[in-house]
Amino acid sequence: MRQNQVIFYSEKPFHLKYRPKNFSDIVGQDHITSYLKKAILGKRITFAYLFIGKHGVGKTTVSRLLSKSLNCSNSFSQKRYEPCNKCQSCINIALGKSFDVHEINAAVSTGIDNIRDLIEKVQLAPVNNICKVCIIDEVHMLSLNAFNALLKILEEPPKNVLFILATTEPKKIPSTVVSRCHKLYFLSLKKKDLSIAISHVIWTEKGNVTNKAISQILESSEGSFRDALTMTDMLMIQDKNITQNTYSFLFNNVSHSISMLFLKYSVSKNIKKVLEMSQYVGKKSWLETTLITQMQKIVQEDIMNNMSYYDDNEHLIALWQLLLKYNSSNSSQDTFSLFIADLIVLLSQKSIYPNLHSYRHKKTIPMSMKVNSLFIY
Ligand SMILES: [Zn+2]
Repeated sequence: MRQNQVIFYSEKPFHLKYRPKNFSDIVGQDHITSYLKKAILGKRITFAYLFIGKHGVGKTTVSRLLSKSLNCSNSFSQKRYEPCNKCQSCINIALGKSFDVHEINAAVSTGIDNIRDLIEKVQLAPVNNICKVCIIDEVHMLSLNAFNALLKILEEPPKNVLFILATTEPKKIPSTVVSRCHKLYFLSLKKKDLSIAISHVIWTEKGNVTNKAISQILESSEGSFRDALTMTDMLMIQDKNITQNTYSFLFNNVSHSISMLFLKYSVSKNIKKVLEMSQYVGKKSWLETTLITQMQKIVQEDIMNNMSYYDDNEHLIALWQLLLKYNSSNSSQDTFSLFIADLIVLLSQKSIYPNLHSYRHKKTIPMSMKVNSLFIY
């Protein structure tokens, strides 16, 4: 047992170690923290909130911070909005041991009995704290009967009880429940915010990361702080100096340079090279579909940033459409071979570009430069 503890818990996982302890530590949700600070200081906290947003963007963290702040003896006496994280109430809530903060995950506890149990607990006056808090995560997973029971209590909420409902799919929640809550929309984190936060974690852990590796972490985490932290944790266990190679090796991704080269041959319609490279990729133990994902993102970004250059570049648009189709399809073992077959058909089509000399405007960038510009990063 002791040995197991040494193996598993010598270091907290990053998503717990770097979970914000104050509102000011929350990344990329200024509109929410600003609103809640004012609501706490102005004593305008309502009885039910609905937190909406994708996973890993701070819904549960903010729920716990709000619970701590409202019950923190030091904050209350000093009229502050931040929890002190030192008083018994703050400590108990952080450890999940508070008698007055109840947290359930509706993905597991979906039934009416779970909600009845919760309602029973909140009917009693707070044990040690100022208010009782019910946090229901993934609330959209509740059964219809459970929603009805929840609605009943939201219609006549007991005094000093706060409901915080969190969801990734608000459309699945009955409108009668939604309309009784103050809705707060959590945003996916912007790359800039995520980059600063993750770089800070790596710096604190005395590691290094290359720009290309960090942009890959940002791409894969798709705005989720928790996903980015988990990925960084894994990468730092592998190697404290994180490079693109560390990333590709650990997550079996096709390396970025291979994706760039593959894209170069696809744009220049070099069928022979495309086939050679697809065979090369097929022989490696890489996740072949990551090649499609990476190429799609590169082409999409380039089209978005340089759209005026590519107004006539139907091939690039067709390539992007093909990549999009296969990137959004459900991955199967055949996805990559089907993609290659369709790509070859696309590359075999006759050029429909106008002759380079027939460009109407002198300022138009020649095709050769357009193609090259794809690879300048
Ligand atoms: Zn406190």
